[in-house]
Amino acid sequence: NVSVVLLTSDLRLHDHPPLRAALGGSRQVVPLFVRDRDVDRTGFAAANRLAFLADCLRDLDAGLRERGGRLVVRSGDPVEQVCGVAAEAEADEVHMAADVSAHAIRREERLRRALEAEGVRLHVHDTVTTAVAPGALTPAAKDHFAVFTPYFRHWARQPLRGVLDAPEAVRVPEGVGSEELPSRAGVAGVSPGLARGGEAEGRRRLAAWLRGGITAYDKGHDDLAGDATSRLSPHLHFGTLAPVELVHRARAAGGPGAEAFVRQLAWRDFHRQVLRARPDAAHADYRTRHDHWRPEREAEEEIRAWREGRTGCPVVDAAMRQLRHEGWTHNRGRLLAASFLTKTLYVDWRVGARIFLDLLVDGDVANNQLNWQWMAGTGTDTRPNRVLNPVAQARRYDPDGAFVRRWVPELGHLTGPQVHEPWKLRGPERAALDYPDPIVDLSDGLARFRAARKRT
Ligand code: FAD
Repeated sequence: NVSVVLLTSDLRLHDHPPLRAALGGSRQVVPLFVRDRDVDRTGFAAANRLAFLADCLRDLDAGLRERGGRLVVRSGDPVEQVCGVAAEAEADEVHMAADVSAHAIRREERLRRALEAEGVRLHVHDTVTTAVAPGALTPAAKDHFAVFTPYFRHWARQPLRGVLDAPEAVRVPEGVGSEELPSRAGVAGVSPGLARGGEAEGRRRLAAWLRGGITAYDKGHDDLAGDATSRLSPHLHFGTLAPVELVHRARAAGGPGAEAFVRQLAWRDFHRQVLRARPDAAHADYRTRHDHWRPEREAEEEIRAWREGRTGCPVVDAAMRQLRHEGWTHNRGRLLAASFLTKTLYVDWRVGARIFLDLLVDGDVANNQLNWQWMAGTGTDTRPNRVLNPVAQARRYDPDGAFVRRWVPELGHLTGPQVHEPWKLRGPERAALDYPDPIVDLSDGLARFRAARKRT
């Protein structure tokens, strides 16, 4: 009467269908996290996410200990580790959450085969890492929605399961050994302003968000300086908060702010159902093939300037510096940085996506790659030739220039929106500026992109 729960992107105790099912009939449970050596090998294990993950595992272990249990951590191949732990604990079933990446799908298939051979049942649960399961909604004769608006119409009408309480007690069989829990202090190269991870922290943030910020989200979410979004994305990525619970609680809060917030949560599910149906979209153009990008080698210096936040385009530099400092930046900052790289510097979206994944604490294959593709015009955007003019956007979403001044101190003495176009300064004021000229003529980049798109 022992179950193993393999925890992956669902590092929580509240609203956890696999854990709930595993505990059914007062069974003993081994809550297992495997540090997957393939994830390390592919470079996906970036410092910011490893540090946040360490917080999450420690918090999860503390939560389990309060309930009489503990977390078991192993590293290596997840299939070998799960089979090994199931044998040690004499478990007859394994529970886990469904997930969407090619890696996750392969892992599930391998695990199913290996466990079957040992006579152990594998139960894979939906609606753990999404509110609506990928594949639950499909247009006629297709396996997924390729456009958000019709997806959202269906998504919003889809009934959700109820929220599950955290278990009161978890009994873990003795004799199943664990490695030491990782710690944030043991991770090198972490962004200095990285947020804290863990379910307790996620729930604290969620409660504060529902009490305050959410009401003004519809009006304020695009204001770069206002920083008026939930910042719950890393908690959604690591599953310290459950999407189903978020949707229920936001709907209960009600009002236009909550509605706009729920719509963003639907974007997350949207990208996941795209990736589930088209795992190749993690690296291949999803809809429109575009192979006119400048060779990476030719643009090496510009890419470096972009990464380091010294392109001479203040709003883009501000976003990239915030990203480096916190491992997070605002959605509008991400859009502007991505537009600048793909449509102004004219560099392949995969280069930008890789650099983002090196830094983002919420870095997620579905959300990152498909948002990059959306902005590059190869993905699900119905207007693939859309270009964001960084100056016009900066004037709109950072009207007073406060966001730029916060992150680009070299421009801190410039007042108001003139901070967005420092190249317009004249004479000694310009000469005294310790800030680069734009590395590219903005209008040239856009024209080049449009011309190349016409050829394809
Ligand atoms: P809020 O505005 O409070 O939104 C609430 C939640 O809705 C977010 O936490 C997120 O889970 C979801 N959400 C919001 N916007 C989007 C969106 N456009 N697509 C999908 N889900 C969304 N988000 C990631 O979680 N991981 C990524 O790796 C990632 N990479 C991105 C790369 C680019 C180029 C762009 C343009 C966007 C990317 N996003 C990514 C989406 C979005 O920018 C972040 O989810 C958001 O900024 C997180 O901040 P928040 O939690 O305060 O968001």
